Amino acid sequence: MPELETSLIPAFSDNYIYLLRDPATGTVAVVDPGAAEPVADALTARGWPLHLILVTHHHADHTGGNLALKERYGARILGPAADRNRIPGLDEGVAEGDTVRVGDAAARVIETPGHTSGHISFHFAESDALFCGDTLFSLGCGRLFEGTPSTMWQSLLKLRALPDETKVHCGHEYTASNARFALSVDGRNPDLIRRAAEIEELRTRGEPTIPASLGEEKRANPFLRADDPALAAALGMEADPVAVFATLRARKDAF
Ligand SMILES: [Zn+2]
Repeated sequence: MPELETSLIPAFSDNYIYLLRDPATGTVAVVDPGAAEPVADALTARGWPLHLILVTHHHADHTGGNLALKERYGARILGPAADRNRIPGLDEGVAEGDTVRVGDAAARVIETPGHTSGHISFHFAESDALFCGDTLFSLGCGRLFEGTPSTMWQSLLKLRALPDETKVHCGHEYTASNARFALSVDGRNPDLIRRAAEIEELRTRGEPTIPASLGEEKRANPFLRADDPALAAALGMEADPVAVFATLRARKDAF
């Protein structure tokens, strides 16, 4: 089966919106359209229609374009059932284990609460593509607006269980500042040092650092390594993953 075509549309100062197209059927979807205009421009440039809008969570910078795109293209909006009343224009609520189809390409819905209570992620296994909104960032993770450290850690463990080949498509280009924080807590990690250098090079050229490799994130992202005794020790803590995760998140919030 041919892989889903994905492209990245920058929006606002650091958001990423994603266009997906199933080459077999020509079905087109957008993930987290915070604004309608850049999406419409990208569709026009490619001569594409828009069939589906996939939403990870309710924040306006991920849903602000929902209604205008739905009206203009007649697209159907799928998002978290748990947040039915906070997703503008939602047509269909989906939950853990549901399958979402973009033409012949299928995504499994993974509930990943923590940043918001109803946050979901979409995993297209056959295309090795993950769309995880503001749950997992390259070298970071989302802020805990509506969840506890334990909730978010459990969500990150679900994403960490996906194959190393998975390409992580997250909601923001926060990678350079995440790298600075990660180096401050785990500065001797060779995988992190290597990834930080690559990030600096990409950003110097004005290129996105996304999608990121999940395999690399598993080795370099401190928020995916809260259960690594070496990281706990580096923080002067006992090996308690939730406590280590909570400390990392609190330190990043104040960084
Ligand atoms: Zn958000």
